[in-house]
Amino acid sequence: MYAHIITIWDLSELYLQLPPLFLYKTTMTFNDLHIAEPILKALKAEGYKHPTPIQQQSIPILLDHHDLLGCAQTGTGKTAAFAIPILQHLYTNHANQNRKSNIKALVVTPTRELAIQIADSFTTYGKFTGLKNTVIFGGVKQQKQVRRIQAGIDILVATPGRLLDLMNQGFISLKDVEYFVLDEADQMLDMGFIHDIKKLIAKLPQKRQSLFFSATMPPAIVELSANILGNHKTVTIKPQQTTAEKVSQKLYYVSKGNKTKLLINLLEEDEITSSIVFSRTKHGANKIVKQLANAGINADAIHGNKSQPARQRALNSFREGSLKVLIATDIAARGIDVDDISHIINYDLPNVPETYVHRIGRTGRAGSSGLALSFCAVDERPFLRDIQKLIKQEIEVVEDHIYPDDGIEVLTAPQKKSSRPASKKKNYREGKSRRWNTRKPSSRSNKNR
Ligand code: AMP
Repeated sequence: MYAHIITIWDLSELYLQLPPLFLYKTTMTFNDLHIAEPILKALKAEGYKHPTPIQQQSIPILLDHHDLLGCAQTGTGKTAAFAIPILQHLYTNHANQNRKSNIKALVVTPTRELAIQIADSFTTYGKFTGLKNTVIFGGVKQQKQVRRIQAGIDILVATPGRLLDLMNQGFISLKDVEYFVLDEADQMLDMGFIHDIKKLIAKLPQKRQSLFFSATMPPAIVELSANILGNHKTVTIKPQQTTAEKVSQKLYYVSKGNKTKLLINLLEEDEITSSIVFSRTKHGANKIVKQLANAGINADAIHGNKSQPARQRALNSFREGSLKVLIATDIAARGIDVDDISHIINYDLPNVPETYVHRIGRTGRAGSSGLALSFCAVDERPFLRDIQKLIKQEIEVVEDHIYPDDGIEVLTAPQKKSSRPASKKKNYREGKSRRWNTRKPSSRSNKNR
C-alpha cells in the first residue's frame, strides 16, 4: 500500500509548486528531524527519504510539545506528520513499561477507511517501537474491538460514533490520553459529527497535546479548533484549489437519461484502466453498478450503506487491479489511497465545489496520465458554475461525444396530476420541451451518500 510514493511525491511536481525555500529544504532527511532510531529504521524500510513539506514543518513543532492546527488534505503525508512525533513521545516516555498499556494517544477520524489507513500507518512507522495500536469503527460487531482494547493498547484510532458507544459502555477510558488528534475536521462537520466531537472533548484530560487537521477552514471549523487547541502553532500546506491546476479535466454536457450510456461508451475505451465513478447518492451508485453489469462491465459500489466487509472487499479488489471500476459516494471515498487511478468520472457533479477538487485529486499526479471527466446535466449547471469559480478555470468541453446535450431535456415520462392550469399542461402533453429549473438545490445533506 505504500509503494506508490514516487507518484505522490514526484520531485518535479514539488519543485514546480513550492517556493524557493522549499527547494533548499528538499535536501532535508528524516535524520535532520531528530527522530528516534527505531522510527528512522521503519521509515527507511518504507523507502521514505525526504520528509514532505507538512512533515518538515509539523514534526519539529510537535516534538517540541506544541498544539498544532494543520490545514492540509490527505495525500500530503499528513498521517506520518502526526504519527511520527506521537510514536516518538510515547517511545521515549513509556517504552518497556511492564504494566498493561492504557490509551495514551487518541486519533479521531470521520470514516472507517481513513481510520484503518491511519492505524496501518501507526503499525508501519511504529513496528520497531513495541508500541501497540488498534482501530475501532462502527458497522461491525464490537467484541473483537473490545478484546483488543482490553488486552492493552497505547494508541487508539477511532471513528466518533463507535468511540462514544464503547466509552458509554465503560470499555474505553480517556483519562490517560496525552495526545489527541482530530483529523479531517471539515468532513466530520459535513457528516454531522459535531455533537459527538464536543462530547468527546469534554471527556479528555485538560493536560494534553492536541492536533487538529482540516483541509478547509470554514468559520465552524475555526471555532471548533479554538475549543480543542490551546496556545497553538499553525501549518498550512497546499490549499485544495491547486490540485485543479495539475489534473487534466474534461466536461461532457449530457442529459440525465444518457449519462449511463455515455459512461458505458467511455469505459469501453481502452485507456480507462482504473477509474472511480462518483455518484451523488447511494441509491444512484447501486443503480450504476447494475446498469454496467447489464452492459457486461464489472463494477462494485462503495458507500455508507454497504457493510464494512463489503466496502473492504471492493476496495481491495480495486487496489489489486482485479476491479477496474469503483462506484463511490463522497462519504465512502474520502481517504481512499490507491495508486495509478487513470480516470475520475464525475457521473454527478457535487453540490459542494471543494468536493470536486477533492475527487479529482485522486488522479492526475504530475507525469501520470490521470484525467478527470465530468458529466453535467442541465440541473447541475449551477454546481458547475460554483466549481469553475472555485478552481478559477473553465473546464474544457468535449463537443463531439455521442450523447451531446444542448441544455434542453424533453419530458417524456407521463406527467403526474398537478394544479397547473390546463393551458400549461397542454404543452407537456404535446411533447413540447422546456428548460429545467436551474435554481441551485439548497440541501447539502449527506444522508443519501
Ligand atoms: P497521507 O497524506 O498521510 O494520506 O499520505 C499519503 C501517502 O504518502 C501515503 O501512502 C504515505 O505512505 C506516503 N508518504 C508519507 N510520507 C512520505 C514521505 N516522507 N516520503 C514518501 N512517501 C510518503
